[in-house]
Amino acid sequence: MTLVTTSPVLDFKFAASPADPLASPSGESPAMVRDRTPKPARNPRLRGLQCLRCDALYPITLTHDGCPACKRAGIHVALRASYLPDSPADTMPMPYASGFALGEGGTPLQQMPELAQQFGVARLAIKDESCNPTGSHKDRMTAVGVAQALDFDAHTLVLASSGNAAVSAAHYAWAAGLGCEVATYEGMPATFARQLDALGARRYVFADNASRWAFVRERSQYPGYFALTNYRLPALGSAPLAIEGYKPIALECVTDGGLPDHIVIPTARGDLAWGIYAGFRDLLAAGRIARLPKLWLVEPFARLSRVLAGGAINGSYPGHTDQFSTAGATVTYLQWQAATATGGGAVVVDDEQARAARRLLTAAGVSAELCAAGGLAALKQLRESNAIAADAHVVLMLTASASSDPSWPDRSV
Ligand SMILES: [Zn+2]
Repeated sequence: MTLVTTSPVLDFKFAASPADPLASPSGESPAMVRDRTPKPARNPRLRGLQCLRCDALYPITLTHDGCPACKRAGIHVALRASYLPDSPADTMPMPYASGFALGEGGTPLQQMPELAQQFGVARLAIKDESCNPTGSHKDRMTAVGVAQALDFDAHTLVLASSGNAAVSAAHYAWAAGLGCEVATYEGMPATFARQLDALGARRYVFADNASRWAFVRERSQYPGYFALTNYRLPALGSAPLAIEGYKPIALECVTDGGLPDHIVIPTARGDLAWGIYAGFRDLLAAGRIARLPKLWLVEPFARLSRVLAGGAINGSYPGHTDQFSTAGATVTYLQWQAATATGGGAVVVDDEQARAARRLLTAAGVSAELCAAGGLAALKQLRESNAIAADAHVVLMLTASASSDPSWPDRSV
């Protein structure tokens, strides 16, 4: 089978037909492993996918191309999981009653009283997502994505990532007996590349996001391929059912520390922020909480900030940053909704501010990737503008530690 791409590709090779099973480091074919992996049990109340904006209902598929009705109106809007209403026993419905898990979730909520005092808030806690199996929050999304892949008899995960999402997908795919193909940048850090190679994931190297997404989009058109991450431009976000994997963060925060007033979240295209928003919205609908916390989305240069100030949501807002995990030029409807529906907003934290914040976290015994350290710098700004009050209860999302962050160690540490 011959595939054609018009993308400016640096190292583009389909060594095998995309329908072929991929070699596994264990010597077993992925299909052999997959045959032993239990089929996930889909939530019987999961009725389809629904537009974030117009609420139109669509069937669940392995592709995620957004809402056609809104697209015709010129607005690129993602879909979300939709469940049958009136299920009082189900506080937080998830796509799979029993899915595919490697121990993700249930991460520590670490109280930081000294930093709270230093930053002038009543309570400050860090939700430490580095404790997930492959070291980042991405495992929550990957787990549900793998469950969907198994449910729909997909044989290969495909995604665009040069960092934590790639490592997460490679691990989970390997464990589930799925193939994994990753579209990366040229400069993928060696620590990530080595892990992908060891887990039998195939790497394809591209010059920019548009090319990576074109590759993933092309792959996603083949039977058996499941695109975990965004592949559209304008960007939509990752696979809708997979994003549901972030919802339990809301429940864990409330259970372990009570309802926060504010949550500070590093953001690229907003999968995590929207998932947290959706989780709190479920808790609100179930009567478990009385209000939504405000979500503050931290970005390394102005993107969402510009959209909130009147810029086009589908515009391009390029910039350079060492905050590796939150780079990119796009804004999504997902992240716009997470910020606006909760009364929160966007905060720009540049690299020097993030490094200064990381020095404080390091001194407090917390290892943070640079964009996650940026959350502490965002808190400083939000206190100075009084968007966060002195009596507030704040949670910072620590998306990953510094251990595999290419910007670590900081020059001055
Ligand atoms: Zn729509």
